[in-house]
Amino acid sequence: AFLAHKDTVEPKVQAFLSDNRDYALEAAAAVDAKIAAGEAISDLAGIPGAIKDNICIKGQKATCASKMLENFKSPYNATVIEKLMAADYVSLGKTNMDEFAMGSSTENSAFQLTHNPWNLDCVPGGSSGGSAAAVASGETVWALGSDTGGSVRQPASYCGVVGLKPTYGLISRYGLIAFASSLDQIGTFTNDVADCAIVLNAIAGHDAKDSTSIPQAEKDYKQALVNDVKGMKIGVPEEFFGEGLDADCRKALEDAIETYKKLGAEIVPVSMPHMKYGIAAYYIIAPAEASSNLARYDGVGFGMRVDGKDIVDMYIKTRTKGFGDEVKRRILLGTYVLSSGYYDAYYLRAMKVRTLIKQDYDEALKKCDVLLTPTAPDTAFKIGQNSDNPLAMYLGDVCTVTLNLAGLPGLSIPCGYKNGLPIGMQLIGKAMDEATLLRVAYTFE
Ligand code: GLN
Repeated sequence: AFLAHKDTVEPKVQAFLSDNRDYALEAAAAVDAKIAAGEAISDLAGIPGAIKDNICIKGQKATCASKMLENFKSPYNATVIEKLMAADYVSLGKTNMDEFAMGSSTENSAFQLTHNPWNLDCVPGGSSGGSAAAVASGETVWALGSDTGGSVRQPASYCGVVGLKPTYGLISRYGLIAFASSLDQIGTFTNDVADCAIVLNAIAGHDAKDSTSIPQAEKDYKQALVNDVKGMKIGVPEEFFGEGLDADCRKALEDAIETYKKLGAEIVPVSMPHMKYGIAAYYIIAPAEASSNLARYDGVGFGMRVDGKDIVDMYIKTRTKGFGDEVKRRILLGTYVLSSGYYDAYYLRAMKVRTLIKQDYDEALKKCDVLLTPTAPDTAFKIGQNSDNPLAMYLGDVCTVTLNLAGLPGLSIPCGYKNGLPIGMQLIGKAMDEATLLRVAYTFE
């Protein structure tokens, strides 16, 4: 049934870069066989999902929506894939994204445009736009994405689904092709909070193969699905509700705050003075790390190679042809802020600001259980609207990037509509306290 539905809507939405139906049918049949044999199956067994194309599956392409990796097949599985296999997962394919996860609209894909299922003239958000659109269009029940500065939460918001970016270290990054390693985290897209808990159960956990993975006791996140926020404290940081916020989005968020009051939560106004430096710090740190991570695409080890008259000429030709404009812009920004003479003025200062931002969060979260903010300043924009204005594109990330700088978990959940497009609310939790985040979101739903 899902494949038939996918065949109907996919030509319009274009969420997928690859179609995995033979494997999917095989995997589904294996689940049927288990059921017939009376074997226990996991909550996720046989439920169709999709995987962002920067997560490695053995023997399958992992293109990162880049010409550089157009023909690259991964020789190994990401840890999340190993875990999903143990849960008898079924994937319908790999999803479209901004090239190397750099972008906020999925327009930076080297291969195709993905359309927002709510309005095909609009972007699905990004960089995990394909995963968000796959779930929102009903092509799959769940999907994995990655979030370095909002790439799960913002597309979830634009597509009206639930998106979770867990605490840095909750989920292994082994086999996630790196963008900015100190910020990257794999996250989930689902239709509701209960499904979010189920997917999180399948993929969370310590992994010796990722040195930044956090040792943790196994948890059942379904136990967090408690329909009660009485007495809980929800912080509202004024800095997220400033001038740039669209009036309809503001109204929807104010209504959500009222709903929480009625449900018995206490609303706590908080102030986070360093949030205004978030975009500047993020767009120094993320490109700096990206420029280093992307140095491996040199035409030698793997990926595209364009021959040249000598090795340097080969490097130049390969990288000129293999990378798109946005990726090149990030490499230029990143190598510039890391170069001697500029390192102290840009990178080092951005790292100091990162600490101040983390401290703002620590202080605010001492006073409350979770924070409530918009996920984005507005709803999904028209395809092409920001294409030749990178700064406007970057500024749209104002509500999401600071969480990655602080390593904290965030969840986006739909809270209203404007002209037929969904509005997202972001809930931010304490480190490793996804359970509270899920509970607060579940009660709202
Ligand atoms: N939009 C942000 C960027 O372009 C975040 C991307 C992401 O989270 N992968 O860097």
